[in-house]
Amino acid sequence: MLELKIDGWRKGLRFSSAHITPEHKKCGRLHGHTYAIHLRMQGKQDEWGIVLDFGVITDTLKAIGDEIDHLVLVPTESNHYSNLKVTKKDVKFRVTDPYTGEPKEFSFPRQDCALLPLPSTTAEDLAKYVYREFMKRTKFTTDTAFVEVGVDEGYGKGAWYSDAKPVKGKSKVK
Ligand SMILES: [Zn+2]
Repeated sequence: MLELKIDGWRKGLRFSSAHITPEHKKCGRLHGHTYAIHLRMQGKQDEWGIVLDFGVITDTLKAIGDEIDHLVLVPTESNHYSNLKVTKKDVKFRVTDPYTGEPKEFSFPRQDCALLPLPSTTAEDLAKYVYREFMKRTKFTTDTAFVEVGVDEGYGKGAWYSDAKPVKGKSKVK
C-alpha cells in the first residue's frame, strides 16, 4: 500500500470565502479566511505504478474549491440560521449576535452566495463537504484503502475528514 499526499498551500488549492459561525464570539460576525484543501490517500499501484493520477486529484480539488471561492458560505442545514430564504435575487437569514444575544438579519445577492448542504461552515464541516464532493466526482482506478481530506482555515490550523471506507478500483487506466 502506498500513500499519496497533496499539500493545498503548495499546490495552490486555495479558496477565500466569507462565513459566520453564529453565537461564537468574533466568529459570530461576518468574516473571511483563505482556506487550503489537502488530501491523503492510500491505495494499490496500477501496472504503470500509479495509485491515482495526481492531475486528476488536483483538478478535482481545484474545481471544488473554485466553486465556493470569493463567495459567502451559507449552510442550509443549520439550526442556528433562522428564516433562511433563497430567491433568484437574494439569500436572507437571521442569526443571533454573540455579543448582544439579539437577532441580526443578513441579506446577500444570490450570486454572491454558495449554499452548502451542511449544518455549519466550520473547517470541520467544510472538510466533510470537500471529501464528499471529491468521492462523488472521482473515478478510482485502483483499490483504495482510504481517502482523507483536510481543509485549513488559514495557515496552521485545519480539520481532516474521512469516512474510512475502502473503495474498489472501478476500471483500468485509459
Ligand atoms: Zn471563520
